[in-house]
Amino acid sequence: DPRLKAISDAITVVPNFPKPGLFSFSTEKAFVLFTWIMFQDITTLVSNHKAFKDVVDIFVDRYRDMGISVVAGIEARGFIFAPAIALAIGAKFIPLRKPGKLPGEVIMESYELEYGNDRLEMHLGAVKRGDRALVIDDLVATGGTLSAAIRLLERVGAEVVECACVIGLPEVKIPGRVRLVSLDVWSYAGWC
Ligand code: 5GP
Repeated sequence: DPRLKAISDAITVVPNFPKPGLFSFSTEKAFVLFTWIMFQDITTLVSNHKAFKDVVDIFVDRYRDMGISVVAGIEARGFIFAPAIALAIGAKFIPLRKPGKLPGEVIMESYELEYGNDRLEMHLGAVKRGDRALVIDDLVATGGTLSAAIRLLERVGAEVVECACVIGLPEVKIPGRVRLVSLDVWSYAGWC
């Protein structure tokens, strides 16, 4: 898709954010992984009207006729893309929020971060048994956040049709048979 290069170019790479240091390391199953901290900043993508519209259009074209009834956006940057997609495909938008932000009764799922844990919460009753859900975030790294979102939606009887991100590798493992779609537009601007 010729639009993808312009989308990738519109993302800004910010080294040493949100933590200082050229690289961090994490241990998972006895392997030590060295990962450069190269934050993918999408604020420059969404302030570029054409690039932002192209991202939304690509997802709307894919999901328009899939019978999606719920688009669940993950706080915070999933909130930037998910409502636009929901409006265009005629689905309801549901926020999956960080702990303590939703005023009503919630269900919650925890997930692991590189250091520690975090949690996603969803209003009880926001999603109904039989809803067909699409989960949207800006970026997938380990898949932990998306996995928590899938668990939340499946607990209330929704069918998670797909997860979709702008940035990240489509090969990342997420649970069950849920397919992950990613535009795979990691930006390497200014790095190589
Ligand atoms: P995962 O749970 O897949 O390891 O991490 C994905 C989550 O971390 C997403 O909610 C995403 O917003 C956030 N995230 C991690 N690194 C970055 C980054 O470099 N740029 C942006 N925009 N989000 C990131």
